[in-house]
Amino acid sequence: MSKIVVYETFYNPIEANIIKSKLLDSGVQCFLSDENTLTVNPLYNQALGGVKLHVFEHDVPLVKSILAESGAEGAEDFENAEDAEGVSGMTCPNCGSDHVGYVQATKERFGILTILVSLLLLVYPFRAKKVHHCFNCQHEF
Ligand SMILES: [Zn+2]
Repeated sequence: MSKIVVYETFYNPIEANIIKSKLLDSGVQCFLSDENTLTVNPLYNQALGGVKLHVFEHDVPLVKSILAESGAEGAEDFENAEDAEGVSGMTCPNCGSDHVGYVQATKERFGILTILVSLLLLVYPFRAKKVHHCFNCQHEF
């Protein structure tokens, strides 16, 4: 029977759950502790030391490689998404430039509903409004 160790501590229960699912998907046994307390009351975070991810000691190298791999994939997906966003085929109604991207708004970034939901849940706004943005004159539409 191998020893169980705390692999990592998270201050964000959602992040902890994402990592847990990734590991379970890869067939690695693991579990979280102090998760429910922290989800209900994030202010206990400091007191409890965050959500702890426990794994078997012999799985630690495997866990490392899984997380390193999925981290790289995630970054790649993100870059591809950025590339796709850069080409929108739109022209700017302000200056006529076709250097226009469909991106997260720099002004009025978050819709009012998102802000309200965020306040209710006490989390940072997670869904940013998207607009067409002209890189030539900074006009958004
Ligand atoms: Zn423009």
